[in-house]
Amino acid sequence: MIKVDLIIKNIMVVTVNDKRELINNGFVAIKGQKFVAVGKTDDLESKYQAEKVIDGEGKALFPGFISLHSHLFQNALKGLGRDKSLFEWLDASVRKAYGFIDYNLILAAATAGCLENLNTGATTVLDYQYCHAHELGLDGSVIEAFKRTGIRGILGRGHTKVVNYPGLPPCPIDETEDMFFEDVDRLLVELKDEERISLALAPGIIWDLSEEGFKKCAEYSKKHNMNVTMHTLESGDDNAFSLEKYGKTTMEFLETTGVLTNRFIAVHCVQMSESDFNIFKKHELSVAHCPMSNMILGSGFAPVPKMINDGLNVGLGADGSASSDTQNYLEQLKAASLVHKGNLKDPTVMPAELVIEMATINGAKALGMDDKIGSIEVGKLADCFIFTPHTLSSCPVADPIAAIVYSSEPDNIETVIVGGEIVKENNVLTKWSKDDAINDLVERAKDLRETVSLEETKWGQVSSL
Ligand SMILES: [Zn+2]
Repeated sequence: MIKVDLIIKNIMVVTVNDKRELINNGFVAIKGQKFVAVGKTDDLESKYQAEKVIDGEGKALFPGFISLHSHLFQNALKGLGRDKSLFEWLDASVRKAYGFIDYNLILAAATAGCLENLNTGATTVLDYQYCHAHELGLDGSVIEAFKRTGIRGILGRGHTKVVNYPGLPPCPIDETEDMFFEDVDRLLVELKDEERISLALAPGIIWDLSEEGFKKCAEYSKKHNMNVTMHTLESGDDNAFSLEKYGKTTMEFLETTGVLTNRFIAVHCVQMSESDFNIFKKHELSVAHCPMSNMILGSGFAPVPKMINDGLNVGLGADGSASSDTQNYLEQLKAASLVHKGNLKDPTVMPAELVIEMATINGAKALGMDDKIGSIEVGKLADCFIFTPHTLSSCPVADPIAAIVYSSEPDNIETVIVGGEIVKENNVLTKWSKDDAINDLVERAKDLRETVSLEETKWGQVSSL
């Protein structure tokens, strides 16, 4: 008998491997952080032994979902500046509060955000942390939240020019590009031995870095094998800026800096021209599609079905909770499918299995981690969750893949495992108290709203409960 740490048996395994195998009455063995056996229960049960065995009869095992785009600090700003377009919303909520957001507020927001991701099946999140105006070292709060909740985290070290923000008083720190890269150097050292946490570069948008800054991002990406991720073509504003400043569109300009490689994750990509498609294909860029955010802000419809047809790699993200109002990953799945069916008047686009691919293996490819996560295979990190069909939303389940995309709720995600460690078991988050996280965030967010006098003037908008 081979001793392992955890066995899950009698379960349907949705592998998302190259053959997209579904293993009925399946079995997985986990030792340390990895899957060491994946197959049929009948074939493997007699060979493996573990102290902890989960009988998954009537349930399904999925690879953990991957959120390619979030701003966890925005969890403190949920529900504010609503019913506005992109820049009106930013000015009314995020930019107004920006200079007042400190370490403990981000820690509270990020902890709750990581728990909401885990609670809905997302085991990896790329957090685009651009809030640095209050004090130095604010990224440490997101790192601490990753560690205390057990999620696999990629810290996207953001950089944004804050001089035009309407905060009163102005942001205490106006970070320069030199400060940005110095902090990236510091974080590279700090995170070099972390198993679940890594670093990416996250310039905010085209006007947040100089041409030199983008060239430097390209160098860092190559030298340290890091992702670069950036908001691109969410509205027409970045192209307008780029044409005026550089005489080229956003993507044409970025191409000249060398930053466009298969480690570049372009976020949103709503306003894609034919020329943009060609540049995306040429450099094998990945796209982070955030359907809830695009709809709430009225940004439009990213041409995701065309991206998929053209062979682009597209994953999913929740975006920050100040715009999407949620980190619930299940909502992203459903929205990613329905928004394009409705927009194109075609129910055959964005089928459920494609959405699951986007949420798993495509996300892993975008992160350059498809040899480690994104599917249930021997040798990969054991990031996965058990789907139970026993909820009012889902039952009766004829097809778990359709059920999880179209009719699921957090209680369907019964048990969640990250790197072999159980972080949610039988519908209870085990690494960090959900109630503590909620109480901490509610209090700190209320203080922030009072300090900044965030707009709360609309009918039906209650300032506090
Ligand atoms: Zn964003």
